[in-house]
Amino acid sequence: AAKRAGGNTRAVFEPRMDEAGEERLNLQGELRMAIERRQLKLHYQPKIDSTTGQIRGVEALLRWTHPERGSVSPVVFIPIAERFGLINAIGNWVIDEACRQMQDWAEDGLRIRVAVNLSVHQLRQDDLVDRIESALKRHHLDPAQLLCEVTESVAMGDPETLQRVFDGLARIGVFISIDDFGTGYSSLINLRQLPAAQLKIDRSFINDIETSRDALAIVGAVVNLAHSLGLKVVAEGVETVGQRDILIGMNCDEMQGFYFARPMGAEALLEWFLGNKPDGSVDFSPSAMLE
Ligand code: C2E
Ligand code: MG
Ligand code: MG
Ligand code: MG
Repeated sequence: AAKRAGGNTRAVFEPRMDEAGEERLNLQGELRMAIERRQLKLHYQPKIDSTTGQIRGVEALLRWTHPERGSVSPVVFIPIAERFGLINAIGNWVIDEACRQMQDWAEDGLRIRVAVNLSVHQLRQDDLVDRIESALKRHHLDPAQLLCEVTESVAMGDPETLQRVFDGLARIGVFISIDDFGTGYSSLINLRQLPAAQLKIDRSFINDIETSRDALAIVGAVVNLAHSLGLKVVAEGVETVGQRDILIGMNCDEMQGFYFARPMGAEALLEWFLGNKPDGSVDFSPSAMLE
């Protein structure tokens, strides 16, 4: 009888992990080590003001250079961090590191506004707002210098948690941005109760804006509706001069993408910034950055 049960029975009692699962498990162990060994870094990608062409701020993006694998994309390791309970440790580090960097730049005379990406797991962390507030205090920063990006899909998942966190961030003076807008199933109507300051239109729409009438119409309509709700609009993933010109024509407020600059380390950003500063007249007062 035992023989007849054969391979199937064995498969039940000795389950073999599929390759993808094994890979995830390896990566999470390595990610744990990377956190302890401080091998994660932040890169920064400029956001450009559509009317003045000047830098309005930067988005902080996680980078992990693995000793053997080379660079591992956040698209790969963020979901692993979320799945294995590492995301809060990573997310808290990102907040602190972004604040430390802002203070560093401030000591060089540059008031650069930084956006950090928050995972839904971080929003469920009870002390998130307190942590952000104390990181800002510790680094002597104006809360209005920090912006939190939350993806649209997250924004729709758990409205109560979201409202609580957004209200808390608004109370301490931190700005909020709805990231990857257009990829979820929400509408601006659902978002209107939230104290968000800006909407980032997902890269997929920007990518098609020159070739698809639909994409063009959608982006145009989103810009207008967002403006009528009092939100600023940012376009992500701008790669061509044609896309840039269409977005300027639509009165999109800010643009971000490889056409302007790739994400880069803090040192490289400083050089890029100094090289792009047209005539030294860039106004870094908070009102100039935030209005
Ligand atoms: P995101 O927040 O939507 O970030 C924009 C992504 O688009 C970045 O990819 C950026 O490098 C890329 N990008 C910017 N301009 C262009 C362009 O012109 N063309 C193309 N093709 N891509 C462009 P990255 O750095 O690989 O990050 C991917 C995602 O990983 C982010 O999407 C965000 O969801 C997540 N992520 C990155 N850093 C963090 C973090 O610190 N915390 C959390 N929770 N998530 C993060
Ligand atoms: Mg983002
Ligand atoms: Mg985005
Ligand atoms: Mg995106």
